[in-house]
Amino acid sequence: MLPDGTRPAVVAVSGSAIAAVAGYGDPLDAARDVDLGDLALLPGLVDTHVHVNEPGRTEWEGFATATRAAAAGGVTTICDMPLNSLPPTVSVEALAGKRAAAAGKCWVDVAFWGGAVPGNQDALRPLHQAGVTGFKCFLIDSGVPEFPPLDPAGLRSALGELAAMDALLIVHAEDGAEVKAASGRDYGSFLASRPPVAERRAIEKVIGAAAATGGRAHIVHLSAAECVAMIAGAKAAGIALTAETCPHYLYFAAEQVPDGATEFKCCPPIRDAVNREALWRGLEAGVIDCVVSDHSPCPPEMKASGSGDFGAAWGGIASLQLGLSAVWTVARRRGRTLDDVVRWMASAPARLAGLPAKGALAVGRDADLVAFDPDATYTVEPAALLHRHPVTPYAGRTLTGRVRQTWLRGTALLDPDHGAPAGEPVGQLLNRG
Ligand SMILES: [Zn+2]
Repeated sequence: MLPDGTRPAVVAVSGSAIAAVAGYGDPLDAARDVDLGDLALLPGLVDTHVHVNEPGRTEWEGFATATRAAAAGGVTTICDMPLNSLPPTVSVEALAGKRAAAAGKCWVDVAFWGGAVPGNQDALRPLHQAGVTGFKCFLIDSGVPEFPPLDPAGLRSALGELAAMDALLIVHAEDGAEVKAASGRDYGSFLASRPPVAERRAIEKVIGAAAATGGRAHIVHLSAAECVAMIAGAKAAGIALTAETCPHYLYFAAEQVPDGATEFKCCPPIRDAVNREALWRGLEAGVIDCVVSDHSPCPPEMKASGSGDFGAAWGGIASLQLGLSAVWTVARRRGRTLDDVVRWMASAPARLAGLPAKGALAVGRDADLVAFDPDATYTVEPAALLHRHPVTPYAGRTLTGRVRQTWLRGTALLDPDHGAPAGEPVGQLLNRG
């Protein structure tokens, strides 16, 4: 899957990089040949939305487990979110702690987002200089007390500061004034507690702040498809705005969520099938730029197993290992191609995070490669998941498309018999650029 389309080809690797791309039959002098037959060769996916939670909440997820799952799922670069670890990545010292915690345990490459929270504006420039991919903020309670949201004045101030260094601000866009408390096992009540207007009001604030400051802003995990038109309008007006959605919003619909099934809880929520169709159209029209996981695990007991209370359960879906298959399963039914999936899940996220060595099969890029069988199907067995906790709404679903091998900078990561990483972790910690 080359930047200019799909064709029979050979990709030559020298050291850690792609040295040549040639026609399938062209003579190339290589020490070793790997013929993939009819499998597709994709650039390794770049997942810019992963909550690793280490240090501090490593019992939720850690670098070793998250990056093993990533490798098995064809993801060769993750960008770690600045919250849910302790401390959150809101200072250069905290970033150093993250790097120390990650060193030597990563099976894929890892880059880091910084956080923009009330009171840390002086830390933004040092974090930017230390190589973070950009900054995350919330406009609503984040779920953890050590990562508070920005108010509208704080949003504008942070975006202005970041605009001066051409740094990206990524925003969890829900407006707390439009969100009600939810409790109980009824999914419909939970869904109604976080209506589309909560996303709409928050995205309006982001667009206003971006227009006023000239800063670059990105909407994470867009769920409410009614916001697609507003985002398209802002883009057309020249505002530096991008957006992502997630596999679970594209795969599931609210009508399928049984009451008490808190494994489906995430914020913003999975909405109805009409909304899902409109999200797909926003993606297919290029208004939504990326599809990334928002992999956000927690221990099974925090998912309120047993009680099934949507108010009490942690909001987050772990899908690093499954995102490619989940998106491909639906994309293919819709007549989309693997080139589309590569654009949404590799090249666009690499560009978003400022990682020019990633996201495409092209000379000079890192030799991050995925051999993918687009026709293979499999049924998701939680026991086969390499995330720390196998809680998943995908359990029992039959997905199309299977990763057969993943290479990171030229090194094969997976034991071909088991599909799980083998050998030693060779992932590196990345800086933006
Ligand atoms: Zn998230």
